[in-house]
Amino acid sequence: MTVFRAWLGRVANLLGVAATAVAASAAAPPDGAPDRKPNFVIIFCDDLGYGDLGCYGNPTINTPTLDRMAAEGQKWTSFYAGAPVCTPSRAALLTGRVPVRSGMMSDERRVLFPNSRGGLPASEWTIAELLKQAGYATAAIGKWHLGHLPQYLPTAHGFDYYFGIPYSNDMDARPGFPNYLRRARLDPRYLAPIQQFNVPLMEGTRVVERPANQLTLTRRYTEKAIEFIREHRNEPFFVYLAHNMPHIPLYASEPWLGRSRRGLYGDVVEEIDAGVGRILAALRELGLQRRTLVVFTSDNGPWLPFATHGGAAGPLRNGKGTTFEGGMRVPGIFWGPGLVQPGVQMGLGSVMDLLPTFCRLAGVELPDGLQLDGYDLSDVLRGTVKDSPRDRLFYWRQEQLYAVRLGPWKAHFITQGSYGIGPKRTEHDPPLLYNVETDPGERFELSQRHPELLRRLKEIAAEHVRSIQPVPNQLER
Ligand code: MG
Repeated sequence: MTVFRAWLGRVANLLGVAATAVAASAAAPPDGAPDRKPNFVIIFCDDLGYGDLGCYGNPTINTPTLDRMAAEGQKWTSFYAGAPVCTPSRAALLTGRVPVRSGMMSDERRVLFPNSRGGLPASEWTIAELLKQAGYATAAIGKWHLGHLPQYLPTAHGFDYYFGIPYSNDMDARPGFPNYLRRARLDPRYLAPIQQFNVPLMEGTRVVERPANQLTLTRRYTEKAIEFIREHRNEPFFVYLAHNMPHIPLYASEPWLGRSRRGLYGDVVEEIDAGVGRILAALRELGLQRRTLVVFTSDNGPWLPFATHGGAAGPLRNGKGTTFEGGMRVPGIFWGPGLVQPGVQMGLGSVMDLLPTFCRLAGVELPDGLQLDGYDLSDVLRGTVKDSPRDRLFYWRQEQLYAVRLGPWKAHFITQGSYGIGPKRTEHDPPLLYNVETDPGERFELSQRHPELLRRLKEIAAEHVRSIQPVPNQLER
């Protein structure tokens, strides 16, 4: 009890409230339901790089909310997206499985497009479907990109409510649209007319606005999330808030537009940061801050060719589309004053770990026979265990395993740049070997020095590949 009180005191200091008040609220939650299951909020950005937040070292983008969230919660420095591009990365997050298991990655089409006929198969279990079994209210707000036909929308995958653009915000570009890339390279504040991207905004399974007014998208997504939280304050809820930003074309609303020293990209990230602040404030106001786990992360690394309209990978190599660290290692912040022991976690984590972690915290049993690639991080988050249970990570690009990480070691079997930024596709035998703890920029190649490690990494990779069962490809339909 003494240790518990001391811990409460530390949390209380961070929050600026009296320890006795925290102890009282822990003993008798405001709504009088002490055994209520925790709520979950995932805030998932599109193409936000590892180096785009103040707390991850960005010198000009101002992110006071996320910096505070990281200080009050856990900041993970080796947290990974499930793939280097949008569609497979989102499939990985929601299913806890490498996307090649669900047919959600392809050598021919890297993501789903408005003319695609496929989507996340009904046979997959999503976080929302599993939490629904335990009585959760569920909402998906924002970018979906797992199939826009009715049978693939969020409402067919365990979400009670959906509001958002069903794919990327640069799709449905009108014919004759001037080259965004060319304009972006010339002007860090270039704002494309919204009519040039005829993307639909949906509520449930209905299109409610087209083209979506993307200027106000981030603000409206934030407000929808808060509205859902308020409506469901008296029952456990799961909100999956997947911002379309900061994927190009970039848009922000007043008063953020024109404000950041980092240009329009900075405006966009600062508006997202302020939105996170509004969500955390709403949770505090409703007395739900001690029973809600908020996770902030990104679907892949920065889209580098878009110059100042793309983000930054900080010290990591390359960006979106690649299996270098910059393509898949992303910010990973866990916040929840009653659930998360504050600190910096340097062990491995992945968006695929969210499904088993949430299920454990919610007391949901995993379906028999479900082959997961996620690990339960709940003990690390609570601080009862120091080291992450995840010791390995598999870097898939389309339908091929390009690299594997075990502890600090990473072996590349294939390397390839993306979107016109090198290097060319090269197969490596022996694989390239880097220590990505001492060398996060993957600059110093060590394969000659550690042949025994390479053998081990190759074995792990082969074992993982053997575990993949062939399934119909959803992106090529
Ligand atoms: Mg993306």
